[in-house]
Amino acid sequence: MSSAVYFSSLRNKTQKSPLDKINQLLGHIKVQQVYERHELVAVKVHFGELGNTAYLRPVLLRPVIGALKELGAKPYLTDTNTLYIGMRTNTVDHLYCAHWNGFNYSTLQVPVVIADGLRGENTREVDLTLEGQPKVHLATDVLHADAMMVVSHFKGHMLTGIGGAIKNLSMGCASRQGKLDMHSESRPSVNQDLCTGCKKCQAHCQEKAIEIGQKAYITEHCVGCSRCIAVCPEGAIQINWNASSDSVQKKMAYYAYGVQQNFPSKILYVNVVTNVAPGCDCDPANDQPVVPDIGYLASTDPVALDRASYDLVKKANGGSDPFHEHYPRVNPVAQLSYAEEIGSGTNQYDLIEI
Ligand code: SF4
Ligand code: SF4
Repeated sequence: MSSAVYFSSLRNKTQKSPLDKINQLLGHIKVQQVYERHELVAVKVHFGELGNTAYLRPVLLRPVIGALKELGAKPYLTDTNTLYIGMRTNTVDHLYCAHWNGFNYSTLQVPVVIADGLRGENTREVDLTLEGQPKVHLATDVLHADAMMVVSHFKGHMLTGIGGAIKNLSMGCASRQGKLDMHSESRPSVNQDLCTGCKKCQAHCQEKAIEIGQKAYITEHCVGCSRCIAVCPEGAIQINWNASSDSVQKKMAYYAYGVQQNFPSKILYVNVVTNVAPGCDCDPANDQPVVPDIGYLASTDPVALDRASYDLVKKANGGSDPFHEHYPRVNPVAQLSYAEEIGSGTNQYDLIEI
């Protein structure tokens, strides 16, 4: 069985503004049947890191917020603190970053709530309704919402190949404990034969997890963020890509499921496929987009939505996967296969262009 994915191209055949296009999409996924008066609706976004300019443009949230308010619901913007040290590691810095990047009350007339507490300590262990009952660790203020709208900027990601709705649901709604759990097998090591001791990796490790004598050595403080890998001029920092990426993506599927099960029939998804940088919005030094801007997609199924977004990016790249060119050892759709396996959605979709 396939899921409907509604697509509005940025090609201006209809002379509609981008905001009108998003409004139309919201009508197709029937927001009016999902959200109700007085409900607290978590609008899950990623505020971007300081310096990054590829992240979701705040103005694109206006139709989403407007539609929810029109229904009498009470939307708020939300995200969780990061595992790595940056401008979104604690709530104070995170709110500053969100404000700096344009997500604030004066631009969007909704509050911003960081869902996992001042330093990521607000966490709840959640049993999944799956065989074997795996557990996930989610941010409490995500779980306390009455409903959710997940608005994701679709782009690449060094460790997981792509980042869309499944990543926003999983990594984006996990507490610090949950993020550590997902990254538990992605710690790199240094090939001592290749390392020249240049210290570039140490300068980029915000966890201070790299010690250098004559050669670099990664300590137990490493959180598996993978940032050092990209900066080593010798290619000396390595992880077992297949095992690490696969393990993270498999766990992401479980975490996404955990959020979904908290909102039965009360969660919708929008993907924004513009500024498709090869790296995540948490990278302050975003690269140029891998394809021209494509448009907006919406669905009730996050797996179908990400799959359709990925396929459109491939199509725009002449049929080949541009993320694969950047991360040849990562299978970017593993997360979608795992998510489908446990019932989060399907990779089969009907693309309905509006
Ligand atoms: S950047 Fe690479 S070569 Fe330089 S110290 Fe780190 S591991 Fe060694
Ligand atoms: S050693 Fe590398 S992977 Fe580990 S925390 Fe530092 S930058 Fe991230």
